[in-house]
Amino acid sequence: MEWNCRLKSWACWALGSLIATTALAQDSAPNGSAWGSKKSSWLLLQGGQREDVFAFAERLKDYLNVARTAQTSTTELLRMAKAAGFAEFTRPDQVKPGARLILPARERALVLAVIGSRPLTEGSRLVGTHHDSPHIDLKPRPVVPAAQGGLALFKTMYYGGIKKHQWANVPLALVGRIDTPDGRHIDVSIGLAPGDPVFVIGDNAPHSDRDLRTRTYQDVFKGEELDPVVGSVPAEKSGVVAEVLRALKDKYAIQEEDFVSADLQLVPATLPRDVGIDRGLLGAYGQDDRLSTYCAAQAVMAVAGTPALTALAYVSNFEEVGSINNTGAASQVLNGVYARLVGAQRAGAYSDLDLRQALRRAQVVSADTNDGLNPLFPETSEPSNSAKVGYGVTIKRYGRGFDANSEYTAFVRGILDRAGIPWQTQTPKVDVGGGGTIGGFMSREEMEVIDLGVPLISMHSTFEMSSKVDAWNFFRFMKAFYAAP
Ligand SMILES: [Zn+2]
Repeated sequence: MEWNCRLKSWACWALGSLIATTALAQDSAPNGSAWGSKKSSWLLLQGGQREDVFAFAERLKDYLNVARTAQTSTTELLRMAKAAGFAEFTRPDQVKPGARLILPARERALVLAVIGSRPLTEGSRLVGTHHDSPHIDLKPRPVVPAAQGGLALFKTMYYGGIKKHQWANVPLALVGRIDTPDGRHIDVSIGLAPGDPVFVIGDNAPHSDRDLRTRTYQDVFKGEELDPVVGSVPAEKSGVVAEVLRALKDKYAIQEEDFVSADLQLVPATLPRDVGIDRGLLGAYGQDDRLSTYCAAQAVMAVAGTPALTALAYVSNFEEVGSINNTGAASQVLNGVYARLVGAQRAGAYSDLDLRQALRRAQVVSADTNDGLNPLFPETSEPSNSAKVGYGVTIKRYGRGFDANSEYTAFVRGILDRAGIPWQTQTPKVDVGGGGTIGGFMSREEMEVIDLGVPLISMHSTFEMSSKVDAWNFFRFMKAFYAAP
């Protein structure tokens, strides 16, 4: 879920916290209300479902461990899809009922589709997610000497709505690609393998930070201070920067100017872990929104045989900065996929009206994690309409950008209820919270769209927490959505 502090100011957030004077007892639901009797999803598990929840979480952790960026996520999703019998779309005659197809977008986004028995112009079911997460990008001239102290630093530009201080003192890995004018594509990964070096943004010691203590919450670190150490050993005749550049040039056979044509991201190098003595929570970087991405990919791969309506999982990029660029949801990637599939089904009779009808009749779940009620800061949520971790799939209303109509919301509620999947709702505190998803870009195409998610704690931090039972229920919902009559 996008949080852009240029659109919603942190001052607004802080003011809201100030206004909230009561410490809110989250579990004190209104007397006599249906919402007061909702149980933790853990208490609703039957038979071997608890084992299923934990097994699903292990596979999710494996994916989160390798899928640290949109690119590495794409690579992993392609691997999983091919293992599940999906083939890359190259020719219109592949679009037959039951076909399992991959429609990639520039190695950074993709659509997985299982073609239904009915044509797309009669309807389709799509789950849309994003697999970019907040991170720190390298500037095109990335290696510089520190002003003092004899170290070399990476110059960086943060990506997405982050609380900058959370990225200090965390081991960071450098992941991405470099492309060269002579046509080479070089994959870069430093910091994820055991024994790899990592990069760290160094905070000030409490012994000497008196002059920094008046900084406000959002400026504990400033944007230009998010520069991790990249080297410390100088050569006899040249400085430490020259040594860093020499090491990188030797390792990847590149020139310094090649950093200009590179997509290199600093991401937390920490491993996904279980949180709590009962292991009920999953802690990992990048769950917004690779948690939903994994659920959607697994759900579409679990579609067996030929569904009535074509089932699609759309994994987009750049959501955290407004779905920009040519693999973001504001681009024509999804329309292009629909045009290719509808064009294959209509062949010579295809017209723009067919595409518009297919889009208008598509039913979409915009799946994205959302802010869960924080046990330490309940006053930043409005508890009567907030989501709790472990209490089910979230129906989001009045987030930002778009909202589902009542009849489609009722349709989705019916799917949840018939499949026995616990659900709750989420509406941000008025004038305080909010966040965008890719749903608005699809509702703009006249698709029927609802915004669903699961709650996270420590959202957009370097280590987000989700409930394992929520992730499993989200996956089960998506399967039921694809199969629903
Ligand atoms: Zn987000």
